[in-house]
Amino acid sequence: MIDLRLQIDPLPISEPIVVRLQDEPAACETEHDAILVERDGARLEYDYNGFSLGVHQRENESFAGDVILAFPGQRTAHRLIRSASPHNTFLVTEQCDQLCMMCSQPPKKLHADLFSQFAVAATLAPPNAMIGLSGGEPLLHKGRLFEMIEIVASLRPDIRFHILSNGQHLSADDVPRLVSIGTERILWGIPLYAADGAVHDQIVGKDGAFEKVQSGLAILMKAGASVELRTVAMRQNKDRLAELADFLFTRLSYIDVWAIMQMERIGYGRMNWSTLFHDSSTDFSGIAKAIDVSTARGLSVALYNFPLCSVPTPYRHYALSTISDWKRKYLEICDKCGSRAACGGFFEWYSHNEGFAALGTI
Ligand code: SF4
Repeated sequence: MIDLRLQIDPLPISEPIVVRLQDEPAACETEHDAILVERDGARLEYDYNGFSLGVHQRENESFAGDVILAFPGQRTAHRLIRSASPHNTFLVTEQCDQLCMMCSQPPKKLHADLFSQFAVAATLAPPNAMIGLSGGEPLLHKGRLFEMIEIVASLRPDIRFHILSNGQHLSADDVPRLVSIGTERILWGIPLYAADGAVHDQIVGKDGAFEKVQSGLAILMKAGASVELRTVAMRQNKDRLAELADFLFTRLSYIDVWAIMQMERIGYGRMNWSTLFHDSSTDFSGIAKAIDVSTARGLSVALYNFPLCSVPTPYRHYALSTISDWKRKYLEICDKCGSRAACGGFFEWYSHNEGFAALGTI
């Protein structure tokens, strides 16, 4: 697992700051760049606008082009952007208005507004980067979120965002703003767990959520937005996925892709693993039926977070390598596997004792 925190020497600052670490003076283009001036064992000394910034390496890793967020007096900084990685996500809030049974990032009450810092960080990203924005529920802070995206869009039109949202806080007034931001700039990841509102509401722990997400999706459709509809396959909905495929075709056929996902064993997902986890390696039938219905009707479908050998061969080409590099691992059985380069492996917190029972046998 790659640690997204960096040990630094505490800084005498009064506000959180965003700094891009550079190895070469020629790479310094902005006031946010710090240049490496000295190495002393594992301690790297950067010059940041005339001030000293000490960063401690764990291994011989390179930080060139990485963007960090440092807080007053703190010894750790958040590595917001790893320049060599395509998997960079800003956790914009930990507040949420749902309580999903399998939530990997359980909500917190307090919110720290770091949108200004996130805007700076995004403008320092490598060319054509796609940055994830997640929570909590990012749209609980819709005004600040849109402001941030607008700032980045004006300064770095090449940057795109992938926003994970429950889609329930959009209104018709947002359509012109979404259009003006540029629909090509945002891919919306919106969860829908069943075609039956009662099942969806139960999974997300919120009455009326299903109706609200329908109205949010209608607004995104009106704005011409790109939508990745996301469904975690669990015991609660595994036999209803074909029904959902049908619903998507008749009601939401404009979506770009339907992602059927495996669970992450962390947060509430870990707490509720024994009652939620659907071992799709031993019973793929509901997912197979959903894929068959989707493809027959022209819906684009993909499998996220499924180890390749947990998927029956005829369906393996739907399984994408989607687990972020920093939280991905492989098992011993993967050491000699010829499919490893194409396989997304497992979440770092996956436990094989309670996981896929039929890996590599189907
Ligand atoms: S890399 Fe591991 S999980 Fe992936 S297909 Fe090979 S054995 Fe299975």
